[in-house]
Amino acid sequence: MSPIPGDPTLPGARRGGKRPTPALDDTRRLQGGKQARAGPEPSGRLPSSSQRPSGAAGPPHAPLARAARRLRVLSCALDPESPPLRVVVVGAGFVGCLLAGEVLRAAPGRPVSVTVLDEAAGPGSAAPATRGSWAWLNANRKTPDHYRDLNARGMERWRTHHALSGLPVWCGSVFLHDDGMGGAGYPSEAVGPEEVLRRHAYVSPAALEGTPGCRAYPREGLVCPREALEAARGALAAAGGCRVEYGSRVTGVARGGDGRPVAVEREGRAPVPADVVVLAAGAGTAATLARLGGPALPTDPRPGVLALTAPLPRVLDTIVVARDCYLLQRPDGVVAVGGDMSGDAGRDAAAGDPAAAAAELLRRAAAVVPALAGAELGVASLAVRPFPADGLPCVGWVDGPASGLYVCLTHSGITLAPLLAELAAGEVLGGPPSADLEPYRPARLLAGGGAGNRAYDLQSDGLRLGGDGGARP
Ligand SMILES: Cc1cc2nc3c(=O)[nH]c(=O)nc-3n(C[C@H](O)[C@H](O)[C@H](O)COP(=O)(O)OP(=O)(O)OC[C@H]3O[C@@H](n4cnc5c(N)ncnc54)[C@H](O)[C@@H]3O)c2cc1C
Repeated sequence: MSPIPGDPTLPGARRGGKRPTPALDDTRRLQGGKQARAGPEPSGRLPSSSQRPSGAAGPPHAPLARAARRLRVLSCALDPESPPLRVVVVGAGFVGCLLAGEVLRAAPGRPVSVTVLDEAAGPGSAAPATRGSWAWLNANRKTPDHYRDLNARGMERWRTHHALSGLPVWCGSVFLHDDGMGGAGYPSEAVGPEEVLRRHAYVSPAALEGTPGCRAYPREGLVCPREALEAARGALAAAGGCRVEYGSRVTGVARGGDGRPVAVEREGRAPVPADVVVLAAGAGTAATLARLGGPALPTDPRPGVLALTAPLPRVLDTIVVARDCYLLQRPDGVVAVGGDMSGDAGRDAAAGDPAAAAAELLRRAAAVVPALAGAELGVASLAVRPFPADGLPCVGWVDGPASGLYVCLTHSGITLAPLLAELAAGEVLGGPPSADLEPYRPARLLAGGGAGNRAYDLQSDGLRLGGDGGARP
């Protein structure tokens, strides 16, 4: 067994004719005792994903290989003497950090090493979707029912999570114009406009004109996405034994003679030994999967604009969803306003002037909450929402465990990540498939399915405000 060469001219690192970038040395080594297994690998030069037939994620004898792989992973997970299972997570966003932490927490005393790789230059520029999120913890209007229930369970997981439970403000939400889509099977209360004005005197009566009625969702809440990300990073550090390396653009996977991963390849940097590769790369997940030789994953990433004020004295005591904008106030006083600036409208804003789009959102917000008139725009935030093509999460092995490729891609990832990370970690470690994740397997998208849920995508997840793109908190 010879060590993996740290040579950036490995076949995978050169693929696509890209020039290797200089090695960045901003590795963050987090506290803890367990370390990634150093060095020895089956062969010096590793066969990479580019040397396999396109789309062939596993060996031809798939059922046998799957069983063998499963046995190996299980025995590795149970036997403290066996070599560590080397898990590489691609993406140091909210999803990737929580998932990596859960893998370590789910394997106490077991030989597991976890490395998180992110292409961002450092933690400050990583996690774009997370940092640009509105970060509402909600389940209303989410269809089908199993997805609404998953989100409701995600909210419950926030309430019990050891590192996150202190962060949310469970202030509830109120829709000023109830269209009857959000109630069934989920705690909500029909509220008359007068009652809304009594409870939330800062709302303009004009914003309630013509309403068929309002609806409150008392169990919903909000978080500051920056605080959530910091807490997820802290939980990962506390789990111990994880290396987080920035400046690590993942470009391929090297496989052994049996077709299983042996290393993850990075642009301009040494490969990282790996038995399992978890793709939690947000809006970059499909492109990364393709680079790793995986199948084309249908996704629909969509830009979204938010207007963020400077911190203000307390203005709002609930999350307000009006006809053409939605607004909440974070614990630090920042008011975050979203609206019909996602989907095609978001693309227009991205291509045009995001600051102007954000200013328009703030103007709309001031029409709903007059106390915001004169509030200055602090940040015009533009971020891409990671979206599987049918709007539902995409979680599980790609082409079965033998491929060694596991995907965890989701919108509503602030609400869902704590739960999804817990469910996925067991599978990544070789445990039995989670029944809760069955509706969300990559196979449905890879087989061209899921399009039937498109109504959810455009009409149910958030507001339908006219135009092509409904606003999607
Ligand atoms: C405007 C907006 C509003 C939203 N509102 C809500 C809401 O109200 N409630 C809610 O629950 N959710 C909401 N979301 C969705 C939620 O924010 C996301 O689902 C969640 O943040 C996704 O986290 P992530 O870790 O998957 O992605 P990110 O935070 O984007 O992290 C992905 C990481 O992967 C890295 N990466 C990508 N490709 C590679 C590669 N090849 N190699 C190495 N690294 C790579 C990136 O650098 C990045 O750091 C919103 C999102 C947006 C944009």
